[in-house]
Amino acid sequence: MVVVANQKIAVCPGSFDPITWGHVDIIRRAAAMFDQVIVVVMINSGKHPSFTAQERVEMIKRCTKDIAHVTVDVYEGLLAEYVRLKKAHAIVRGLRAVSDFEYEFQMALTNKKLNQDAETVFFTTRAENMYLSSSIVRSIASMNGDISDFVPACIHDDIKKRFSKKGS
Ligand code: ADP
Repeated sequence: MVVVANQKIAVCPGSFDPITWGHVDIIRRAAAMFDQVIVVVMINSGKHPSFTAQERVEMIKRCTKDIAHVTVDVYEGLLAEYVRLKKAHAIVRGLRAVSDFEYEFQMALTNKKLNQDAETVFFTTRAENMYLSSSIVRSIASMNGDISDFVPACIHDDIKKRFSKKGS
């Protein structure tokens, strides 16, 4: 990523386990508003993801390759530190429902406390993505269901392969 002075940089952090159309929409909208968008797979030792960080990075790259000024990264550590490291101007998060709000509000305030420059910006989900989450995709895939409406076609096979052993 080439950073030009005065460019506005946004960080889109998440688990992306796996990336869904809900994530792609938020990334696309962030890319329309900021000069550079860094999608970062955050390693959380408390979680047991279905895909490795590298697999998630590869899938995000494939799903966002048509969106200009988007780069994909992986980070283990505090998001507030990552924002400082990248000299980013905003943390972009998606809000689906009231249930997301309490956690997101707490995280936004915590990140601001840890790094005064870490502003969190929320994008409201599109109505059609309101119910969509990585965990829903994992559940459907693990029961051999059709995930084609939920994730981009370029990652269908990765997801099917990962869950086919468990589902059969
Ligand atoms: P995390 O474990 O950090 O919540 P996720 O991968 O679940 O990571 O989500 C990353 C970001 O994408 C979060 O801001 C989340 O609210 C947002 N997001 C996830 N699914 C959707 C969706 N369907 N619509 C809008 N935003 C979404």
